[in-house]
Amino acid sequence: MNSIGKQVLNALKNEISELDYTRYIKQLQFNEEESKSNLAIFSAPNALIANWIRTKFADKIAHLFEVNTNIKPTVLINVLSSTITPSVTTAPTIPAERAITSLLNPSYTFQNFVVGGSNNFAYIAAKNVSEKPGVVYNPLFIYGGVGLGKTHLMQAVGNVMLSQGKTVIYTSVEQFLNDFSRHLSNRTMDRFKDKYRKCDLLLIDDIQFLSGKNQIQEEFFHTFEALRNENKQIIITSDKKPKQIGGLEERLKSRFEWGLVADIQPPELETKIEIIKKKCEINRVKLDREVINYVATIIENNTREIEGILSKLNAYSQLMGVDITIEFARNVLKEQMAEKRSNITIDLIMETVAKELNVKTSEIRSKSRNSNIVYARRIAIYLSRSLTPNSMPQLAQYFGMKDHTAVSHTMKKIQELMKNDEDFKIKVEELSNKVSMDTSE
Ligand code: ADP
Ligand code: MG
Repeated sequence: MNSIGKQVLNALKNEISELDYTRYIKQLQFNEEESKSNLAIFSAPNALIANWIRTKFADKIAHLFEVNTNIKPTVLINVLSSTITPSVTTAPTIPAERAITSLLNPSYTFQNFVVGGSNNFAYIAAKNVSEKPGVVYNPLFIYGGVGLGKTHLMQAVGNVMLSQGKTVIYTSVEQFLNDFSRHLSNRTMDRFKDKYRKCDLLLIDDIQFLSGKNQIQEEFFHTFEALRNENKQIIITSDKKPKQIGGLEERLKSRFEWGLVADIQPPELETKIEIIKKKCEINRVKLDREVINYVATIIENNTREIEGILSKLNAYSQLMGVDITIEFARNVLKEQMAEKRSNITIDLIMETVAKELNVKTSEIRSKSRNSNIVYARRIAIYLSRSLTPNSMPQLAQYFGMKDHTAVSHTMKKIQELMKNDEDFKIKVEELSNKVSMDTSE
């Protein structure tokens, strides 16, 4: 009989292009021996393929497991006999609970983290915490946009402490919740408590997902209290400040501010360039300065794209046996950039904005002066102008406005609001991310 891993890869075949399948997925081997219901381990022939699969397909793979088994596992893509990226391995002798606790990405270290003006504060805070865990800032709360290095930094502390033989738990809200439910239904809550309340370092990634989940907030509160009373270190990341997380108990919000709240801003061009150089070094990809600068200009703010781009460039150049020149890079990435842009349409923006702000798309396009609708309309116009190639006259026509000056006026208005009102800025950025995420499927 086919193993579940093979079934999942077969199912994936129907969902992706043939080229992606033969070039990447076909090269994967399912590690049946070491996989568990909540941990699916695959091996790829090299680090680039592994990285590419991690960025592009890991979520899909996890989802397909969930469809088949009702459990969404963590998907690990290891590298077969590689010295490039040390991969996370789980020795069969380690019991499952402990193995999960050490699922840190070994390349997420302080050494591999590029420090610039945008992340300097968070970096120093994390560094201090790694030197004096449980003492200096507890909890350390790191917040910022997608792909800015929050997970990397928190795991860097984890890797330091792991190397000192400390017990480190890295988890997401979802995993914490699943673990909780499982122990609850198995009547093994004491084991759950033992696990989370007796570690030396608890890393909770993307805490904003606690929003609205009351039962788990309660449990997390007690975990937090227990750890803090014992001077065990807690590090939390989020896409926004504690105060701005909706649907979160006040007592949690206030505790999140007890230690230190550090933000990470989008990197300046210089920092982006350094990050790309670092990723090239780690993945052993050779790019010359011109190509690095070019890549830096196309990645916008999400550094997560870098590894995908490097694997793509490298894979193509190996396949075609040519060097990565600037022309070559432009050609390879042209398609990707066009794809990214052309996937976003005004209609999609309208749908997302309408859904998120609770108005109808027809209302956005109407002449209504109702303040909620005006608000939604302005944001829709702003996003359409920033995320699609439509000109101002085209937008004026779409939104039924007099002429392009009305659009330009709206753009200025929104830019001004974003400058003066941080909550508003976050809201707009969130919507912008949502739109982009809706197209990245
Ligand atoms: P976040 O958790 O904020 O969404 P991640 O920590 O997952 O972001 O970072 C996304 C990718 O970008 C990772 O591969 C990470 O190593 C890399 N990265 C982000 N910032 C830096 C940095 N300052 N130096 C080196 N790599 C970085
Ligand atoms: Mg993250």
